[in-house]
Amino acid sequence: SERAFVMIKPDGVRRGLIGEIVSRFEKKGLSVVKAELIQVSEATAKEHYGHLEAKPFFRELVDYITSGPSFAMIVEGTAAVKNSRYLIGATNPADAAPGTIRGDYGLDVSENVIHGSDSIDNARIEIERFFIR
Ligand code: ATP
Ligand code: MG
Repeated sequence: SERAFVMIKPDGVRRGLIGEIVSRFEKKGLSVVKAELIQVSEATAKEHYGHLEAKPFFRELVDYITSGPSFAMIVEGTAAVKNSRYLIGATNPADAAPGTIRGDYGLDVSENVIHGSDSIDNARIEIERFFIR
């Protein structure tokens, strides 16, 4: 089976959504095989969002993701990457369907509750980035 990296961002942790969100992955049939409350460092944030460095919101994004603890998870199961992204919903919560995590718990693209790996290759890179070193 496949592994995805999923992380509840600081707004989700602050709002007390860890249990609710973990429950959605479990109910779908994906297993949380590792989880930890972490403080994302400035350096790790800049690396993780390096592909967005040229965007006008980059500084705001780094400040947001480092603003408090995040809940990092490895989620495992059939097509874990694709299925996680479906559960999470569209990047902008305003466009995310009701029933998805962002659709149900988000309002604003700049604080969109949760991250999920967008490919199997990136899942491997992100698991290493957040759990192995
Ligand atoms: P994530 O990588 O967090 O799972 P995603 O893959 O749906 O989200 P990306 O394009 O990788 O979307 O963007 C990464 C993150 O950058 C988004 O989750 C969001 O927090 C932030 N972001 C994206 N677009 C905007 C924007 N227009 N304004 C502010 N923040 C944004
Ligand atoms: Mg992404």
